[in-house]
Amino acid sequence: MDFLAPSEPEGKGATQAPWKILIVDDDPDVHEVTKIAVAGCSFEDRPFALLHALSAEEARQLLRKHDDIAVALIDVVMESDTAGLALVSWIRSDLGNTFTRLVLRTGQPGYAPQTDVIMKFDIDGYAEKAELSRTKLITAIVTSLRGYKLVLSLEANRQKLKQLNGQFAAIVEKNALSEFASAVLTHLSDLVGEPIDGLLCGMEALPEYGSADISRVRVLASAGAFEDKVDLPLDVVGEDLVRKAIFECIDSKSTFSTPQGVALPLVTRNGMAGAIYAGLPMAKLDEKVGSEVIQLFVSNVALGYEKTGLLEHIRNLAYVDRTTGLSTFSGFLEAFQRHASDGRPLLVVHSDIQRFRVIVDGIGDERAGAVLKRTGHRLSQTFPDALTIARKEKDEFLILLKGGTENKVQDVVARVEEAFQDPITLGENQITLRLRLGFAAAESVGRGAEETVRFASIALNDVRQKGLTNHAIFHPLMQEAALERLRLASLLTGKDNQTEFSLNYQPIMQARDESIASFEALMRFRTPSGSFLNTARMIEAAEASGLITEIGAWMFKAAFAEFNTFEGVSDRIRLNVNLSPRQVQANRIYKDIEDAASAADLSLDRLVFEVTEGLFVANDQVTMSLLTWLRNKGAKVVIDDFGTGYSSFSYLRKLPVDGIKIDRSFIMNMEQDPDALAVVKSIIAVAQALDLSITAEGVETVDQRKLMQELKCNYLQGYLYAKPLPGPELGSFIRRGGDPETPPH
Ligand code: C2E
Ligand code: CA
Ligand code: CA
Repeated sequence: MDFLAPSEPEGKGATQAPWKILIVDDDPDVHEVTKIAVAGCSFEDRPFALLHALSAEEARQLLRKHDDIAVALIDVVMESDTAGLALVSWIRSDLGNTFTRLVLRTGQPGYAPQTDVIMKFDIDGYAEKAELSRTKLITAIVTSLRGYKLVLSLEANRQKLKQLNGQFAAIVEKNALSEFASAVLTHLSDLVGEPIDGLLCGMEALPEYGSADISRVRVLASAGAFEDKVDLPLDVVGEDLVRKAIFECIDSKSTFSTPQGVALPLVTRNGMAGAIYAGLPMAKLDEKVGSEVIQLFVSNVALGYEKTGLLEHIRNLAYVDRTTGLSTFSGFLEAFQRHASDGRPLLVVHSDIQRFRVIVDGIGDERAGAVLKRTGHRLSQTFPDALTIARKEKDEFLILLKGGTENKVQDVVARVEEAFQDPITLGENQITLRLRLGFAAAESVGRGAEETVRFASIALNDVRQKGLTNHAIFHPLMQEAALERLRLASLLTGKDNQTEFSLNYQPIMQARDESIASFEALMRFRTPSGSFLNTARMIEAAEASGLITEIGAWMFKAAFAEFNTFEGVSDRIRLNVNLSPRQVQANRIYKDIEDAASAADLSLDRLVFEVTEGLFVANDQVTMSLLTWLRNKGAKVVIDDFGTGYSSFSYLRKLPVDGIKIDRSFIMNMEQDPDALAVVKSIIAVAQALDLSITAEGVETVDQRKLMQELKCNYLQGYLYAKPLPGPELGSFIRRGGDPETPPH
């Protein structure tokens, strides 16, 4: 018997779903009476729809079919004396229906169910049928309906809480505070059951950086009418009342409501404060969500806010360089990716501070931090248009600019030069900083962040190596050179494939009488297969990779020791060794030289150190100190490859050096090329005027020798006398007193 009573809808109630009311009674008259009694009744605009069961069994079927029966009026005595009670037990336990309100009815007074049954099964009422006048019946039904509504809303809350917990797990997973915040607003809309105009605001930073301050309140997420306010300071929210509600709420850490909306406080243990603003009146929010759920929601959000806020903070640690306050490298890469996705051309500038190590040595690590900070500050001021500025490591900075390399580079160089024209003052020290710049553009789509930075670094490296200008733009050839150096450097370190180091010696003769004046030690690198690698390129690779200091230390030991075993070499004959810039810059150079000399029992006054012009481009203290120290120990210092670099002759006067070696390119060309000869002549004139010794490198022919002798050059070195030879092969050369085996003529 499954019929819905056509409970005549009355007026406005028609549109609402009816309340389902189940009548369980084995007496058909009761059904009829009930129907008549409730006819036309409604509760909260919803009419009643009656379902009729004439037995407990029928009732079970109906209850299984309809899970939304609001009230069941159940006869206690039906098939059996306790059929009604059994049905109640079945509904609550077997069916698991805890929502439907149950009203027991009995025809016979005295058949009242025991109170424990009422307790146990959550029964809402008990009445004797005789008592159920129309009014009483309707009152009982309406009371039950209220109960039903309450139970349903509790259940809904329970479901929402469950959902809350489930969703929170997912929301808290969101690492960024803003992502978390917008998930929270979405969730609040879900809870309310309709889209809300919402804002989630937070303080920009932990209060340790300052107390609550409305100008530091930022919109972390927004929804509905406020949608366009995300990421902006609270100030930009137009409505005064909304701003006021939010700020009051954050400041007092308690709920603040206005007729239009509610600001709910987010309070965390670490004092991070924030607020959720929902653009609906408190009463409505309560009604839609329930105050318990709101409370739980807010405390959950606060927890999540704390957690993600901390994560954000930690992330900031990863993205904010502590020394300078600039971005970190990770932050830079992220910014690059963000801007690259717009598809516009980007320019990466990789910069470092020339001689930063020297500066650090001079002023100490603590002040070095201040130098970095000032540098970062100047860069920030110089490039307000930068997309981001980061410190990569040590004294290396990265600037990300819009646009490609075309016509932008000169502008950047000029701006940097101007920005660093004035020295920075640290206590009593005034330090002029010179920045070196490497440029690379990400013009072609697909050149990623790391690759572009690497290219800029290669360009910067090129500047460092050549030391001639303060900037360079990446060119693919630079990369090839860099790769080549890397490959060569790996030959120096490869474990299984170890390259063997050895030394050759090339004599340097007195120009006057062609007797031996010195031997220049020159490195040789031999592969396991026995072939020799190009020395100049290997040295360059070792220099670029920093391995040169290690190789240099080995070289001093080996050369000093071997030189001391040369037979027939008088005390006046010296040993020349080469020093490359990076070796000079390493602190250990003093110890490396001293250790090698004392191990070989060789006095430093037997040594000549050959350095390159590049070393003197910047007139720094580290180089000067080392050279002065060497000369004080009796060693001599000469400038190698003279004429190839930057040489303004006038600066020669100021350098702590004893002589120059004219680069072999001039010697080779001077007979054919009048310009080369003119250079040689003027070099010699200047050197003589400054009382510097002059060595001609690469003397291969007798004519060259004669010319150099005429020009009063002091020393001659080249294949004319001997190629660089291994120590043991020098014996016969020395015994012959330096005469070439077959005199060339
Ligand atoms: P360098 O100091 O200018 O050495 C002279 C180079 O010219 C040597 O090349 C030598 O073999 C070559 N040479 C000598 N006489 C003649 C000649 O008459 N004609 C021609 N065409 N070439 C001649 P090498 O041995 O290949 O060395 C290349 C460079 O490697 C050196 O140039 C020096 O800068 C560097 N180097 C070698 N050994 C060391 C070292 O132990 N430490 C450092 N720092 N650099 C080293
Ligand atoms: Ca040399
Ligand atoms: Ca040379």
